Amino acid sequence: MSIRFAATCIAVLCLLGRAWAQTPVDTARCAAMMAHHVLHDGAPVGCERLSVVRFSYIDFAGRRHDDGAIVVLDAVAPAVQRIFATLYARRFPIAKAQTLEAYDGDDAAAMADNNSSGFNHRAVKGTARLSLHAYGVAIDLNPMQNPYLTRTGDTVTVAPAGGVDYLNRRDHRPGKAERAGMAEAVVEVFAENGFVAWGGDWDDPIDYQHFDIGRAAAESLVSLPPEKARQAFEDAARAYQHCAAQYSDKTSAERRQICAARPQN
Ligand SMILES: [Zn+2]
Repeated sequence: MSIRFAATCIAVLCLLGRAWAQTPVDTARCAAMMAHHVLHDGAPVGCERLSVVRFSYIDFAGRRHDDGAIVVLDAVAPAVQRIFATLYARRFPIAKAQTLEAYDGDDAAAMADNNSSGFNHRAVKGTARLSLHAYGVAIDLNPMQNPYLTRTGDTVTVAPAGGVDYLNRRDHRPGKAERAGMAEAVVEVFAENGFVAWGGDWDDPIDYQHFDIGRAAAESLVSLPPEKARQAFEDAARAYQHCAAQYSDKTSAERRQICAARPQN
């Protein structure tokens, strides 16, 4: 092996090392989150319980990016790192993943930009109830390919607007190009890492982009000290995997029906 080749390898490893990391939200980022309306006083979790997960991803043109970043609750950060490592290994395309400061905490703006994201201290749209994004235990994936649908009478509203092209959820269709980046392809990856709830299973809204860990689990994790919370979440993910392995002959929906209904903590 030439010295130059070895040096190149080390440089590549360094680059990968920078891309893949979980770090606490530091003072500067915390201030930016407050200034950009991503976090406010009175949130169920503060910066001391939030982590930035950094990762590489492949975009829809097949290019690699090393600037993926998502903010989540500390306890779920290792699982979120594994999720994005699996998506990268599978070359599941992601349009972009910037933290919500880039959009001043405006979820509609992030959706319109097809941005995948996690923490945002906000209510569930149209309600006063806190979103699980406000606990750092929800992830929105490729909003354009996985739109958010709400009903008013017989009228369905699609967000973001470009999501209308993905109301048909089939990835393989005769005579049409194969489509990628739709959540259905990775529901099981999220479930095996503790994100057992998927908005594509709901009736109103239907939220194809949304994954979370369930509200009871979220409230339990934030009530525990960080290390205990991390252990509880990892135990729950392992329990799901163990259960799912016993039902490998079932469909993904059946596995989640059987295994995600079990106690999470
Ligand atoms: Zn969401």
